[in-house]
Amino acid sequence: MAQAIQGPRLVLLGTGGTIAGRAVQAADNVGYVAGQVGVAQLVTAVPALGSVSLDVEQIAQIDSKDMSLSVWQTLASRIAAHLERQEVQAVIVTHGTDTIEETAFVLQRLLRPAKPVVLTCAMRPSTALAPDGPQNLSDAVAVARHAEAAGVVVVCAGQVHGARDVAKSHTYRLDAFDSGDAGALGCVEEGQVRAFRPWDSAGECTPYDPKALARFVAVEDLPRVELITSHADTDGSLVRVLLALPHARPLRGIVVAGTGNGTVHHLLSDALRDAQAQGIRVRLTTRCAGGRVVPHPGLAFEDAKGLSPVKARLALALDLLLEA
Ligand code: ASP
Repeated sequence: MAQAIQGPRLVLLGTGGTIAGRAVQAADNVGYVAGQVGVAQLVTAVPALGSVSLDVEQIAQIDSKDMSLSVWQTLASRIAAHLERQEVQAVIVTHGTDTIEETAFVLQRLLRPAKPVVLTCAMRPSTALAPDGPQNLSDAVAVARHAEAAGVVVVCAGQVHGARDVAKSHTYRLDAFDSGDAGALGCVEEGQVRAFRPWDSAGECTPYDPKALARFVAVEDLPRVELITSHADTDGSLVRVLLALPHARPLRGIVVAGTGNGTVHHLLSDALRDAQAQGIRVRLTTRCAGGRVVPHPGLAFEDAKGLSPVKARLALALDLLLEA
């Protein structure tokens, strides 16, 4: 669907989530079904979109807990195609909150976009007495049109978060996201973006590589990387089962969410060293919600460089895919 208004265009891609959710009772903010309302219909609840040249596309209609490689492949290739269009200023994506941080990370890693790619979401379904989706979508438009916006960001509850640092930190609150020590990139107040610091994807070392994107889009599966948490009273048997299991997708990597500053139960550590000896890449992160593993010479496994466990898992899978 395209509206006939001139000027820089925005593209809105829908993938489902609570923002597109429907409940039987308006007072029900939790017993709803995600991914029910088409993205073209979500637009009608946002006055700010009435004056925007907009292309709207439904990429998927899922609960983001079920996010899959195939949806990421479609999403990444459609975003790349739209970003190449000179008249397109930015791409906005509606998404579920549960895995939005993983999608943001994958898109930033693969696309490194100079133009803004703004992911937004909602904690309440579209049928709620006071839904948060329309305001979040309206804020996403403000960010998409902001002159200094760049890269993949997540907009929720008036805050703008960077793809690398954002994490869902609350199960229920409308401001469910946090960027840890890095903090939010900025905020949106009454339709105006206030940047707290530059959004220039600081720290990115590899530029956009269309061949890497093509490779990602063509694969049937990502290299298999499993995520394991160290905890009291573990014995490492999960790792040994993984190593012994015959599987169509052979195990290529393990991310371990260690305790505290990346400490790992000695029995799990033994099992992980055995995995390493068999050629499995092991990366270390922490199960702590805040902080990062502060590197020191005693670390037994590769440092995940401050990524959260779920992002470290994706980073290792993408490294294994793209380094091959
Ligand atoms: N389960 C939903 C989803 O991630 C939660 C949400 O969007 O808030 O799609």
